[in-house]
Amino acid sequence: MLKCSLCVHDERTAKIDVIDGKPLCRECQVYLRYPIEREAVRRELEELMEKVDRAIVAYSGGKDSVVALYLTKEVYRVPELEAVMVDHGLMAGQAIENAERIAKHLGVQFTLLHYDYSDIFREALLNAQSPCRACSRRTMEKLRKYTLRKGYRYIITGHELPFGHHPHRLMSGGITQIRLLSMMTEEERFEILRKLPFEFLELPGYTTNCLVLGPALERYWGKHGHSFEQRRIAALVRYGLMSREKAEKELERPEVPEWQWELVRRKLDLNAL
Ligand SMILES: [Zn+2]
Repeated sequence: MLKCSLCVHDERTAKIDVIDGKPLCRECQVYLRYPIEREAVRRELEELMEKVDRAIVAYSGGKDSVVALYLTKEVYRVPELEAVMVDHGLMAGQAIENAERIAKHLGVQFTLLHYDYSDIFREALLNAQSPCRACSRRTMEKLRKYTLRKGYRYIITGHELPFGHHPHRLMSGGITQIRLLSMMTEEERFEILRKLPFEFLELPGYTTNCLVLGPALERYWGKHGHSFEQRRIAALVRYGLMSREKAEKELERPEVPEWQWELVRRKLDLNAL
């Protein structure tokens, strides 16, 4: 099986061509043709952030949103700030406590909104699909409405730069999403986390807060023989933001502890799984 020589895609997850003797996936080919200038992206972010005087941070309590909150408060010094967490019903309780503790530590107002995404999670688990896209789309929509209601114009997120895009995005209602972690390495993120009272939760999957991801990955693995996070993690490796070794570890088949499966089954009323 051909494996991309630049990222972690292989023939199961991407189309791979051999170019000058080297296997390269289509996404890497585009990247090599139009490389992203890390410095230019970081500069664009700094210019954007200078204009921001009031904002909410989309705060999942996961490591990336914690880094985004820290940067917004301590580096960009946005004067009026609110950390808004959306609990989709299957967030780890410890992750919520962790999130609240860090917001307090940074002196940022913390708001927790509760919703029930059981419909998304149940469907994903039953069909052995990824719940992530539907979940994050719904969360962004909830946050957008909250932002409008409270009269803010900016939502700052811990997102990475999506393929071929800008570090910001205009949403309906005149709200701008700023992806503050665009082109920031894993190591830079960990450096910030070490300064904070952040407690790492050991959860299966590339997450520090979501209880559904592990079971969903396990179901997907059972059906497809690989992870559905390949694309996201491949991008991190391609941009030089994550080592190949770490990425390969993240893409291994997860082992979900029985207590986690129990909780997810009970909550979603999925006793057959
Ligand atoms: Zn590739």
